[in-house]
Amino acid sequence: MVTLQDKYSRGFKTLRVSLLSTCNLGCIYCTMGSEDEVIYDHRPQTPAASFIKTIAALHSQLNLKTIRLTGGEPLLYRELEEVIAGIKAFGIDDIRMTSNAFLLERNAVKLKQVGLRSVNVSLDAMDEDSFFRMTRRKQLQRTLKGIEAAINAGLEVKINAVIMRDQNHDQVLPLLDYALKHNMPIRFLEVMAMGHLYGNTEKHLFTQQDILDTIATKYNFMRLPRKPSATANYWQTEQSGIFGIIGNESEPFCQDCNRLRLDAEGNIYGCLSNNNPIALSGNENDDELTDKLQQAMQQKQSLHFVGSELSMMHIGG
Ligand code: SAM
Repeated sequence: MVTLQDKYSRGFKTLRVSLLSTCNLGCIYCTMGSEDEVIYDHRPQTPAASFIKTIAALHSQLNLKTIRLTGGEPLLYRELEEVIAGIKAFGIDDIRMTSNAFLLERNAVKLKQVGLRSVNVSLDAMDEDSFFRMTRRKQLQRTLKGIEAAINAGLEVKINAVIMRDQNHDQVLPLLDYALKHNMPIRFLEVMAMGHLYGNTEKHLFTQQDILDTIATKYNFMRLPRKPSATANYWQTEQSGIFGIIGNESEPFCQDCNRLRLDAEGNIYGCLSNNNPIALSGNENDDELTDKLQQAMQQKQSLHFVGSELSMMHIGG
């Protein structure tokens, strides 16, 4: 095992795996909306065995604590259960997923049984028109049913809501009301300069302060201490509900980032804002793998997110 650290003492303890680069929603911050980005993709998917082999090799060097499965939409990945079971088999218990929940209703119980611990569900609106404006799909009810199924299956559920000025900023309070009612933590995300929004976020940015000001019209709250390596800052309402803000622009969280990313083509990235893939062949010996991990570590930006032309749908959100 290697101790890999950069000058800010950052290591890699969380691996985010993008299982595939396609999705069944067309969220406006993630895609340009062309159908080939957002419909069922019949191209061959990377086999589960290949993901498991790569994750095992990375784990042997890094002693990973958490694996987050994402995409694209991970529920479109046909061998999702096999990947989860495979990861669990080599001793990592903290297996999480980020999903739009579109297919969660029929999968939640099986995923829990094979070892999934939690799911972060992307939900950007509480009314059909806003949901359609954000995702290009009229599927709010289906998403809500997916969330309900996940809760009933015993999965920990958090909500992620990207807030864009003049698109869904009027949804902050309805989303918070919904999350508080179901006792689920919710995190609001400032829009990030990724993919087609690279260099073009200013007019969409609804800042951490804007979100707090909106919430303050209805709730009293106090700030909680930040946990190490967390992406979100958290607040607690007077009624003991928790909400968070991933204020990438207002309060970047790069200083203790511990995340490594693996995409569906077997490339690793040390930073969300680096679009230079480091290809893994799957046959590296220990020294070669260490060398590639060191390259990935050097990709980490210093303390502020600069963005990337790569969409989150590819690198994995
Ligand atoms: N399909 C899954 C989902 O919808 O959760 C997983 C992949 S999606 C790329 C993961 C996360 O990335 C979502 O929470 C989404 O909201 C976020 N995301 C994608 N592009 C973003 C951007 N430009 N700014 C902020 N968040 C973004």
